[in-house]
Amino acid sequence: MQSYGANTRGIVLKVLSIVVSAYNEAAGIEKFYEVTGRYARALREKNYEYEFVFVDDGSQDGTSEILDRLAEGDSEHVRVIHFSRNFGHESAMIAGLDYATGDGLVFMDADLQHPPENLEKIADCFEEGYQVISMVRTANKTAGTVKKITSAGFYWFINKLSEVHLEPNASDFFAITKDVQTVLKNSYREKVRFLRGYVQNVGFKKTTIEYEAAPRIAGKSHYSIKKLYKFAMNTIMCFSNVPLKLGIWAGLFSGFLGLIVLIYTLITRKGAPSGYATIVVLLCFMFMILFFVVGIIGEYIAVIFDEMKDRPLYIVADKKNLH
Ligand code: UDP
Ligand code: MG
Repeated sequence: MQSYGANTRGIVLKVLSIVVSAYNEAAGIEKFYEVTGRYARALREKNYEYEFVFVDDGSQDGTSEILDRLAEGDSEHVRVIHFSRNFGHESAMIAGLDYATGDGLVFMDADLQHPPENLEKIADCFEEGYQVISMVRTANKTAGTVKKITSAGFYWFINKLSEVHLEPNASDFFAITKDVQTVLKNSYREKVRFLRGYVQNVGFKKTTIEYEAAPRIAGKSHYSIKKLYKFAMNTIMCFSNVPLKLGIWAGLFSGFLGLIVLIYTLITRKGAPSGYATIVVLLCFMFMILFFVVGIIGEYIAVIFDEMKDRPLYIVADKKNLH
């Protein structure tokens, strides 16, 4: 990594940017700052300084005020970006990517589910020359069985559909060097996006560290079923065009079915295959396939439409300790 400056002992210092997106985290954000700060300061042993880049994703519960207070009290280490409204976790991470100034960046959640004791291991990996460090969950005590099964199924599916590989247990806890930051910042600015997936697929020297996800310190998870569905759809759109080709297969299948019915009719010589039910069932089935395919095309067109509008990924209302 590049060097940053020299401390009083004349030793070259590097800066670790800890990027944290926070949406309505008033109950736990201060504790996060304290605990993570403690682990970050311990890195001075390894000649690392640190900065927090907090992205306040349009919080309405007092998180903004707490962050401003932290920024005022610790202007050297705390930088804050306030969004004009809630733009979502992805956009918040992009803002962190845009504003972080460190030599290495670590992306973390504000609820201490990503244990900060891993900062030391991350710094060690940077020192060994790794540029992309994915943190892989070994256990997630907070996730229920249903979430675990759907999550495993989803990753199996997307890895079948897509040419890239997505690590099933990777999280939004990862670390990258400045070089990778530059690439992601400049070349991956799609409106519909999946940063964690891009991080795993930009190449560079990669490694993984296993960690055990902790329970949330306070507040509750913001991920509803609806958000998870949107997230799953977005991921598929980001990484695969295969669903668009489904129409061809559906067409072939319908043609084949038609052929069978034709042959059956000719062989039995009864005229049409008997029954009103057959016709209705076949019609419903065909329309189901047709609308499904039209729906998929619609989803992709929506992505193109978003891209064309070229609206900003986020709007910054205010910044603290940042230029
Ligand atoms: N978050 C955000 N914007 C949102 C929703 C969540 O910045 O619209 C942040 C949230 O404050 C937390 C992180 O994203 O730091 C992960 O969210 P959460 O803990 O709710 O998700 P989970 O860990 O349950 O998957
Ligand atoms: Mg969480």
